[in-house]
Amino acid sequence: MSGTTLVMYGKATKIIPRMMRNHPITVNGLYGSNDIRHSIDDLGIVNVLTQWRGSESGQSGVILMRIVMLGPPGSGKGTQARIISDIYGIPVITTGDMLREAVAEGTEYGKVAKEYMNRGDLVPDDIVNGIVRQRFSQPGIEEGFILDGYPRSTSQADALDEILEENNQKLDYIIHIVLGDKTIIDRLSKRRSCPNCGAIYHLESKPPKKKGYCDQCGSGLIRREDDNPDVIKNRLEVYREKTRPLLERYKDRGLIKEVPGDVKLDELPDIIKKLLG
Ligand code: ADP
Ligand code: ZN
Repeated sequence: MSGTTLVMYGKATKIIPRMMRNHPITVNGLYGSNDIRHSIDDLGIVNVLTQWRGSESGQSGVILMRIVMLGPPGSGKGTQARIISDIYGIPVITTGDMLREAVAEGTEYGKVAKEYMNRGDLVPDDIVNGIVRQRFSQPGIEEGFILDGYPRSTSQADALDEILEENNQKLDYIIHIVLGDKTIIDRLSKRRSCPNCGAIYHLESKPPKKKGYCDQCGSGLIRREDDNPDVIKNRLEVYREKTRPLLERYKDRGLIKEVPGDVKLDELPDIIKKLLG
């Protein structure tokens, strides 16, 4: 393929990852289309010309996808975020994972966060806003991002508005995942996750091939400490009280797209593409 020039029209952030699926390299774990572009270089394609939508009219601009996932715990925000990330080649920023990493590393704020997380309460704003602000100061989000688990309260939404303004960004979509409590409780209490690669299983609807071990990386699966009935109940209450009111805020801005939380996994990519274009 050396010497080949690929000219791509349309939303390159969609097309590049799709194209890469035909090549024997892994797209998983790559963040942002710049990384994907570097991988295209590694394949020996010397030039990738990208024609963005709008470029015919003389404005060349990147199509941005700046998304917030909003929905109760266990509604599948993380799963949907990964699917969106694969389709559009934009990174997921997951505050829950970042906090769990800090807990595992035993950092100062990890120690504080652990107590709140084990009870199912919100970790204090200064910690969470701090890690999000820090992430926004790093590269990789120029063409968009998916916030999974943030903002979770009015004061976090205020902080996010501030962070976005500082970075000259604005939100494009809020994806609201709708799911009833009964399904949530069933899902979370039977959820198992891989501490190594983040893969998620359900003891009945998506069991691992080998009981107790991750299909993708072979690590031992764990049940999160906050996936026990009492803590799940508290997480649902916290959601209703602190997070749900954000829907009103974003409804007023006309940003909300609703996705049912109980559709089949393999139907999700099509639903999302129809919704986001
Ligand atoms: P879920 O959405 O299933 O509750 P997460 O992994 O998003 O799972 O969150 C787990 C826990 O991490 C929360 O219960 C909370 O204690 C903490 N957490 C995650 N994101 C935030 C946030 N934005 N603000 C405060 N606490 C957070
Ligand atoms: Zn794994």
